[in-house]
Amino acid sequence: MSNRRQFLAAASAAGLAALSAGVPADATVRRRRNPSLTFYGAVGRVSGSCHLLETSRGLYLIDCGLFMSDTPDRDENASFPFDPKEVRAVFLTHAHADHNGRLPLLVKQGFGGPIYCTDATRDLNRATLRSSLTVGEGEGRSLYGRRDQQKSFELVEVVPYNRRLSKSGVDCRYTDAGHILGSAMIEIWADGRKILFSGDMGPDGAPLLCDPTQHRDADAVLFESTYGAVRGAAANYEAFGRRVRAVLDRGGSLLLPTFALHKTQTLIHLFHGLREDGVIPRDVPVFCDSPSAQQATAIYDAFPQYLDPAAKAARAARGGTLFYRPGFYEARDDDTLLTHGNGPAIYLSTSGMLDHAAAPKHLSRLAEDPRNAVFLIGYQAPGSVGHRVRSGESPMRLPIEERFGPTRYDVRELKLEVDTLSGFSSHAKGQQILNWLGGFDSVGPAYVVHGDPDRAAEMAAGATAMGVQAHAPREGQSFEVTGERFAPGPAPTLPERRADDFAELDS
Ligand SMILES: [Zn+2]
Repeated sequence: MSNRRQFLAAASAAGLAALSAGVPADATVRRRRNPSLTFYGAVGRVSGSCHLLETSRGLYLIDCGLFMSDTPDRDENASFPFDPKEVRAVFLTHAHADHNGRLPLLVKQGFGGPIYCTDATRDLNRATLRSSLTVGEGEGRSLYGRRDQQKSFELVEVVPYNRRLSKSGVDCRYTDAGHILGSAMIEIWADGRKILFSGDMGPDGAPLLCDPTQHRDADAVLFESTYGAVRGAAANYEAFGRRVRAVLDRGGSLLLPTFALHKTQTLIHLFHGLREDGVIPRDVPVFCDSPSAQQATAIYDAFPQYLDPAAKAARAARGGTLFYRPGFYEARDDDTLLTHGNGPAIYLSTSGMLDHAAAPKHLSRLAEDPRNAVFLIGYQAPGSVGHRVRSGESPMRLPIEERFGPTRYDVRELKLEVDTLSGFSSHAKGQQILNWLGGFDSVGPAYVVHGDPDRAAEMAAGATAMGVQAHAPREGQSFEVTGERFAPGPAPTLPERRADDFAELDS
C-alpha cells in the first residue's frame, strides 16, 4: 500500500469521524471533487500551525510550525501525522517559529517541494531558524541538523504580494497580513473552491506595518483567536512617552526586555519619534544588544516597501532609515553592560521574559536603584523571571548566563520601578477580526485556529452570531470545502479585554 493511500485512508477515517457535525457521510466520494482541510496544530492552542489542504492536484501544507511552551508533550514535535514525502508544496504565512519552526524537520523526513513565501519572510525565516537551531543545539535536543535547515532554505521560492499565481498545481495569492514584516494571508484556489488562510493578523493602526488586507469572498476562511472575543485599545504612544520620560527625568535608566522580532523594531522606531518630538532628551542613548534583534532590524531596514505610509514618511524624514539614526547603538551584550553607570540610558534586550541572554544581567545591575525601571512588554509565562518580577518577588535570584561556564545567579533586592506595557501585541483583537469577517460579501465556513479552546470557541460563537457557519476544530479534524457560502451580518460588540496578558504573545 502506498504512503499516499495509507494517508488518504487515515485522513478519510478522521474526516468521517470528525464530520458528524454537518457534512455528509459520503465524504470519500465527494472528496474527489471538493478539497478538504485537516488541522494538525494550532487548534485549541496557539502554537504548531500546520494545516493540510488535500486537493485533486495533491496535498499542500499551509505553515509547518513548532509546538511551543503551551504544549506539554515535547515529543509531539518529532513526527508528523502525514507523510512529508506526499506533500507537494508548503505555503508559509510568516516567519514566527510557531509557523515555520518545523520546516527543516519536514525536509529531513522527505519533503522536497517548494516553500512559497514573501521575500521578507524568506530573510526572516533564515534568521529565526538559524537562531532556533543554535538554541536547540545548546540544549541537546535539536529536531534536525544544519544540512536539513540549509536544504529548507534552498527550497524557498519567493512570491510577491497581490498577484494571483499558478504554483504547484493550484493558484495562490499572498496579501499583507500586517502582523510582522512580510507576513501574509494566503488565498488558494483548488478544485473550483477558494480557501483563505489569514495567518496571524496584525492590529489596525499599529506603527510600522499596514493594516491587514480586507478580503471579500472565500469558500472557507481560517482566522486566529489569540486574544479571543474581546475588544480594547491599542497602545497609547503619548502615554508611553510620558512614562519613559518620567524615568529619565529622575536620572534613571530603563530596561525593556523584548522579543527580537518586530517588537524591538517597533520600539526603536518609537524612541526615535519621541526624541524627534522632544519628549525624551536627544542625548539619551538607546542600546540593543541582542544579535537576533540586530539581524531582524537589518531585515526590517531592507524592505521599506512594506512599511505603512506614516513609517515611510518618517523614514524619508530620517534620511532613508527608520532605525540606524544617531542615539541608537547596536552592541554586543557585554559591551552594552559596560555603559551602566554612565547616566540614563534605554536598554532593549532579550529575552522577553527575562529568563535568558542579556536581559537578566541588565536587571541585576539596575535592580537596586529606585530611579531605574523595567517595563515588561508582552506575555510573561507563569514561572518565568518576568512573571515573578511582575508579581513583586524580592529579593530575586536572577539567572546570569556566562559566555563560558554554567549559569550563575545574582540575588538582588528589586527596588526599581516595575511596570507593564500592554497594547504592543502584533495580533488583532477579536473585535477587529469579526469586523473584518463582517466585511466579506460572501464567505463559506470559518475555522477558528491559533487560540486556547475557550477563546477559539467564543470567536466561533461570534462568527455564528453573524450568520456564518463556524468551527473551532480539534486536532486532526477534517472538513470538506463544499462551496456553501453565507452573507455575514454585522459583528457583535465584544467586551473589553481581560486583565491578563496571555494574548500579548509574540508568535
Ligand atoms: Zn505570528
